[in-house]
Amino acid sequence: MTVTVWILGDQLVTTHPALELAEQEQGRDRLVVLMIESEQRAGRLPYQRKKLVLLFSAMRHYAQELRTAGYCVDYRTAPDTDSAVREHFEAHQPDRMLTMAASEYRGRRYQQRLSRGLGIPVTVLPNTQFLTGRFDPIPDPQPGRRYVQERFYRKMRQHFDLLVDPDGEPSGGRWNFDKENRKRLPADAEPHPPITFPPDPVTRAVMDEVERNYQGVGQVAGFNLAVTRQAARAAAQDFFDHRLADFGAYEDAMSSMHETIYHSRHSPYLTLGLLDPLELAREAQGRYLADQAPINSAEGFIRQVVGWREFIYWQYWRLMPGITDSNFWNAERPLPGFFWSGETRMNCLRQVIQRALESGYTHHIERLMVVSNFCLLAGIDPRTVNDWFLSAYIDAYEWVMVPNVYGMGLHADGGLIATKPYFSTSNYINRMSDYCRDCALDRKSRTGKDACPFNTLYWNFILQHEGALRSNPRMNRSLLGLRHLDDRERSLVRKYALRYLETLS
Ligand code: SF4
Repeated sequence: MTVTVWILGDQLVTTHPALELAEQEQGRDRLVVLMIESEQRAGRLPYQRKKLVLLFSAMRHYAQELRTAGYCVDYRTAPDTDSAVREHFEAHQPDRMLTMAASEYRGRRYQQRLSRGLGIPVTVLPNTQFLTGRFDPIPDPQPGRRYVQERFYRKMRQHFDLLVDPDGEPSGGRWNFDKENRKRLPADAEPHPPITFPPDPVTRAVMDEVERNYQGVGQVAGFNLAVTRQAARAAAQDFFDHRLADFGAYEDAMSSMHETIYHSRHSPYLTLGLLDPLELAREAQGRYLADQAPINSAEGFIRQVVGWREFIYWQYWRLMPGITDSNFWNAERPLPGFFWSGETRMNCLRQVIQRALESGYTHHIERLMVVSNFCLLAGIDPRTVNDWFLSAYIDAYEWVMVPNVYGMGLHADGGLIATKPYFSTSNYINRMSDYCRDCALDRKSRTGKDACPFNTLYWNFILQHEGALRSNPRMNRSLLGLRHLDDRERSLVRKYALRYLETLS
């Protein structure tokens, strides 16, 4: 009997469950590993070219490691996944296929239909890249019910014994140190930049191919990411040694000077399976126990990896496919053209967009409180926002973007994921960054041709959606400000908001 083990491009894990099972049952000699680069999938959107380089190079390195370990690997570059699977089937005539469940909806549906299409048994094993595959803290969620991330996160901490004292209480006396994660970056701070990895011949060949064949955003030049598990672990060590200690205090800070600040930049590696979430969480805990990192840093990091990342994946599978049709605010404006160039007078948006287009990375607060904040207030269609994030960001895959954009960022789901919409005036951006200092717009004005659009659009949004916002008790403070807006001021807000929105194209 010949067995095919199909390893998807974002499943480059150390111990692949399908490979392990096939080897146990069949032996290494009777199995063929199938890996596919699909041109159709890579061209579905104008993807960041560095993202494609990372994906293809990591896949090719992984395939080479398997070959070196004695596996037969059928690595195919094909117009689409289906033709590659069929050509593989004709060439190898497998009697059975094993694979690990895709992290994305479309891919998993395809896997579920494969057996009928190929006429052989196809076993789809649970996805081990997520801890919720090993422990589901809310195994029977009810449709339409809201689940709070904090409860989910505590259960994950308890189950995996992360920052939990022997008496069952949270280390440091609290489960969440979010309030100690909000410092502005001092002007003289010099965060240790992440280590970089010069492209090897395999990566250089991929860079040439992507440059030639894909018309996405950004350039392949300057690609310097890890493309193997060994290199990704070195990148992780670099974070734990040099940035974790300050990560907590400055987790929400934004800076025009420093792209990474004290963030880990683990997300692209976690997404592809090059790093393991539990290993990272345990390492952060170890650094805290060894007095190498304060509790607000260790807990803040673990909350991102074991709390937020897992919660988002869990919500994605709970709410798909309906969530992608949600549009709570009836936002229908097309994405402004400057999202593809960064050419806008708004300094914060210009810098964040240009960074995203160039490197494929900005940290989560810039994504939430600059990009998504703007899109929510300007009434941009959630589908176009989701596609933009998927295109521009190196770590953006559907399972992570859909809940983050439709839920957290735009509240298009009506509050199934986040308990309140996240939006603010320029005050938040000014408090947490240096962007306003060099902006041509007036951060203190609400109306007028040079007023910061975050201010104008913020008040316009509140006026437009007052009824819906009043029904959310967590929005009371924002609505209190309305008392200071008399009729004249309200009409000016509406006038200047409309005038600004008409300039967006
Ligand atoms: Fe952004 Fe407004 Fe500040 Fe300019 S003034 S950087 S647009 S928040």
